[in-house]
Amino acid sequence: MVIDGEWVAAHNGQTREIINPFNQEIIAVVPEGDREDAKRAIQAARRAFDHGEWPHMPAADRGKKLFKVAELIDQNNEKLAELETLDTGKTLVESRADMEDIAGVFRYYAGLADKDGGETIEPPMPDAVSRVVREPVGVCGMITPWNYPLLQASWKLAPALAAGCTLVLKPSEITPLTTLKIAELMEEVGFPKGVVNIVTGPGATVGAELSESDQVDLISFTGGIETGRKIMQAASGNMKKIALELGGKNPNIVFADSDFETTVDYAMNAVYFHAGQVCSAGARLIVEESLHDKLVNELLKRVKRIQLGNGMDESTQMGPLTSAEHRAKVERYIAIGKEEGAKLLIGGKRPEGKEYEKGFFLEPTVFDGCDTKMRIVQEETFGPILTIETFRTEEEAVRIANDSVYGLAGAIWTQDLNRAQRVSKSLRMGTVWINDFHPYFPQAPWGGYKQSGIGRELGKTGLEEYTEQKHIFQNLNPQPMGWFK
Ligand code: NAD
Repeated sequence: MVIDGEWVAAHNGQTREIINPFNQEIIAVVPEGDREDAKRAIQAARRAFDHGEWPHMPAADRGKKLFKVAELIDQNNEKLAELETLDTGKTLVESRADMEDIAGVFRYYAGLADKDGGETIEPPMPDAVSRVVREPVGVCGMITPWNYPLLQASWKLAPALAAGCTLVLKPSEITPLTTLKIAELMEEVGFPKGVVNIVTGPGATVGAELSESDQVDLISFTGGIETGRKIMQAASGNMKKIALELGGKNPNIVFADSDFETTVDYAMNAVYFHAGQVCSAGARLIVEESLHDKLVNELLKRVKRIQLGNGMDESTQMGPLTSAEHRAKVERYIAIGKEEGAKLLIGGKRPEGKEYEKGFFLEPTVFDGCDTKMRIVQEETFGPILTIETFRTEEEAVRIANDSVYGLAGAIWTQDLNRAQRVSKSLRMGTVWINDFHPYFPQAPWGGYKQSGIGRELGKTGLEEYTEQKHIFQNLNPQPMGWFK
């Protein structure tokens, strides 16, 4: 891992084996850092921020470095994609697309770095000038999940560096490899010592230290809702700024007048990409009653054809789940669904066959007859599970879709564009897609309403999160006030 510009082992020599979820082979051994390592990294980031050149460098020069990072990511697309697939199990096609997106994120913030020249405002008195400028927030702690390891890291690294912050990033202990790899690429670009620190290790020690430390000014976290709650509490000690990207349980609302072919196709992508381990997965299909039977029949035909396998094989459409623990959690949800009375139409078990024996596979699963009282509809199962609910009216569709503690994303399928606009206004979610599912890009903000999070990543807001606003007021004609004579 990287602390203060050096590649180091954990201070106590502990390590962790990283395994390939397709066959459980050990693919790497990484340092298992703890609080001590996190503290050293925080100190390094603090020194680099308080006494280093990085926050004061012209923003355009910081941007140039980020452009170079983007270039190196493009040049190493295939290597990075393979590493991501070996570590997470997702298909190579998905990993390659992730790497293109990641280069795009660096490029976007590289370009944005020098675009905010501050603002002059008109003060309500004569002979005065007022300016509002943005300054880097300081030392940032960053904690990322295992489902999109490098993508989630890039959403934090690129804007924080563009803003002039220094940082300590803790990747998920399950999938740290591409984050370590990008640290190598950043070394090649050349960032000042202590600006970028990467500490591998568990959440309960390294993550907790980053959230609690009074030397950290902002904590940016992507992960589950329960961890988010702990981080929010830990951050209150020194009132550090918080940015939380939490889970989602995202409705995919299908009206009977939607274009059938495209709707079915996207309903499959929405839930089964990366075996459903996507915060914005369209795991809740909410379909107009009159279309239900036709849609479900067609879905089942297609679910049967999904090709499970090694993410490294080009023919694979869905890989294994990323860890044994996570598969066990998803299997518990399948059991809960059955107990709650949802109707299991397909899947719900591990696939049979020698080729699947060692991988953490689970069949794509569909539950019909679901409603919002069920835990499998309310909670994030984060696996290849689709639940189906039905509605009769537009109002009912909106009510069902909004009946959730989450509010990350949702989609509407209809050819009636007035209805599409009405429904999109009524959904309490950070992103609404009309006749599409999943598109996100660096230019548009991403984040959740309700318990899906606090703040926004990506877009201009994604950069502003890493800044403080300062108002500078100057009296051009200072005279004694004469109040206290
Ligand atoms: P998780 O909450 O278990 O872990 C996320 C990270 O937090 C890991 O690095 C982990 O080590 C760390 N952590 C765990 N306990 C901690 C603690 N007490 N203090 C500090 N850090 C701690 O989540 P996960 O299982 O890795 O990821 C899946 C979750 O991430 C899902 O809920 C998913 O929806 C969410 N997610 C959200 C988005 C988004 O953009 N909203 C994107 C991707 C993933």
